[in-house]
Amino acid sequence: MTTHRRPLDSVLETIGETPLVRVAASPDDVPVYAKLESFNPGASVKDRIGKYMLEQMLDSGELPDGGTIVEPTAGNTGIGFAVAAGQLGVDAVFVVPERFSVEKQQLMRALGADVINTPTEDGMGGAIDRAHELADELDDAVVPQQFSNPLNPEAHYETTGPEIGEALDGEVGALVAGCGTAGTLMGTGRYLREQVPELHVTAVEPKGSLYATTKGRDVEQGEYKTEGIGTHDPSTNELFDPEFVDDVVQIPDEDTHAEMQRLAAEEGQLVASSSAANCLAALDVAERAAAGDLALPHDCVVTVFPDSSERYLSKGVYGSYEEWEG
Ligand code: PMP
Repeated sequence: MTTHRRPLDSVLETIGETPLVRVAASPDDVPVYAKLESFNPGASVKDRIGKYMLEQMLDSGELPDGGTIVEPTAGNTGIGFAVAAGQLGVDAVFVVPERFSVEKQQLMRALGADVINTPTEDGMGGAIDRAHELADELDDAVVPQQFSNPLNPEAHYETTGPEIGEALDGEVGALVAGCGTAGTLMGTGRYLREQVPELHVTAVEPKGSLYATTKGRDVEQGEYKTEGIGTHDPSTNELFDPEFVDDVVQIPDEDTHAEMQRLAAEEGQLVASSSAANCLAALDVAERAAAGDLALPHDCVVTVFPDSSERYLSKGVYGSYEEWEG
């Protein structure tokens, strides 16, 4: 956190260098450490790609100075891009399916972005189509396309991975992270596996999501409340590489919901559903390693807590499971 000990010129300098904190419930001999991404100024892991992708696209000329980005997003990516766009003189338009949290959409607008909603039933596919239509109508507009743009994992290869490696002196045994775009898992994982070739990599998704089918698993499609991770169509994701991951773990929403409450009550961690799913999957890896059922190159598991529960209070995250809207 050395960067925060001197006065900074811009909020963009506060992105990254987030704390890595031990999960108290993890086994003593195989600790789990969680990277707390809500410490970023836009309060999620997506600030990293907002800053990195826009800076790279401006540098390469792909995005002209004063141009516009149009991105389909469930929310956190919009906030991350909006923070960076505002500071880099770029206009931002986000296309968001209606079902996603209203707090996130308010924050995007407050940061100066335009938000356009598409019907929930059209899914992310509907938002993606609308974003491309809009970009075609505007001058100097680019769709960053977080689901296919290699700059997304590259942001994590350049920042999240090195930060974790440095904090743990390179002694990381496993990386466990949920996949939306899979940018976090793929970029961080590629960096860490260069340091530790035997690194165990686990992808996390809610039960009902279909990344597991890419590993030949016979899982059923279903709806889920966990926000920010999972897919119903892995073929639309160009970043997730099933060959790179050792395992895809599915966490049922009920377990994720209970873990969100436990993390707050017992560990002082006000984190949202994808963090709780990641935590359960990471604890499972650590417990199997501690029991001698899984060989890891180092006795240490790292996961990511992508954002905070405050962003979802209106969806009843701390109510009963039935009240939680997801
Ligand atoms: N959790 C939350 C809350 C998110 O918004 C996202 C991004 N969709 C993720 C996890 C997954 O991150 P990635 O897109 O890098 O896989």
